[in-house]
Amino acid sequence: MFNRNTKKKMRFSDFLSGEYATDYINQPTPYAGQIDRAAKLIREADYVLLGAGAGMSTAAGAEYGGKFFEENFAEFQAIYGKGPYMQDMYSAGFYPFPDQESKWGYWSHQALLAGADLDVTPLHKTLLEALKGKKLFLLSTNADHQFEKAGLPVEQIFQTQGSYNLIQCKRGCHDKTYDAVALFRQMERERQNGKIPGELVPKCPVCGGDMEMNLRVDNYFVEDENWHAAEERFGRFLSECVNGRTVLLELGVGFNTPTIIRFPFEKLTRQHENISLVRLSRSKAMVPSSLGERAVGINADMAQSITDLAAKLRDAETGL
Ligand SMILES: [Zn+2]
Repeated sequence: MFNRNTKKKMRFSDFLSGEYATDYINQPTPYAGQIDRAAKLIREADYVLLGAGAGMSTAAGAEYGGKFFEENFAEFQAIYGKGPYMQDMYSAGFYPFPDQESKWGYWSHQALLAGADLDVTPLHKTLLEALKGKKLFLLSTNADHQFEKAGLPVEQIFQTQGSYNLIQCKRGCHDKTYDAVALFRQMERERQNGKIPGELVPKCPVCGGDMEMNLRVDNYFVEDENWHAAEERFGRFLSECVNGRTVLLELGVGFNTPTIIRFPFEKLTRQHENISLVRLSRSKAMVPSSLGERAVGINADMAQSITDLAAKLRDAETGL
């Protein structure tokens, strides 16, 4: 009998890749044909590994700038001016806040809006519903917990870049993170003129220094116990799915951090004939032409392509 246990265990570090494809093409197949091909690949698969980037949350309706920012961050624009930082939640995070009271006054507000209080899950639910019966795992660079809110068990999620709900020691002096949602809510209630009261400023319980959001922005990012447990489960799923019929379903991953999902997905598809890649993106769905029929890249509004793909999978199930 063939012994599967002798197979090499895959780890997250083996999975990551910095290899840039040199043969990217935008596939010329018309949209409907692309959806058919993607649905066929998924229907025939036992395993689906989801890889989600910022484009997934945006497609689902999450907003970060424009009118949304003007409406929700007027208090901060009035204090710090509008440009160049106070334009959207990404740029504003880099503002050199004058003190910890101001820093947390801003960040508690953003953390709640982009994390705990964000719910754009109808599209996530549509997708999960369509993938019922598949062995599923999600690798995500988003910190917003939307797939979890949509009902995907946390044991099937590896959120690699941190969480809007957690804080850590700014210097990463110890490998622990702290759930700060209740604290953020208190900060939100007590904030005045952009500042929280001094007694609410969090301090590291070990070194007494400043705290920081648990988001991967520098080398001090803390990978805590839960992070490592999720990494371990991801490794186990990966070791299993490379031996089965697998679709890597990429959702809104661009070129900001391509080494975590995009390039590794291409590498896995290149190395395993039983693996296919379905790449959904509004404008970055080019795929390596050398992957041939095993790659489908759909450049389209993702709310639309996910809805169409789900409908196609549903029809197939009912025999329509
Ligand atoms: Zn510390």
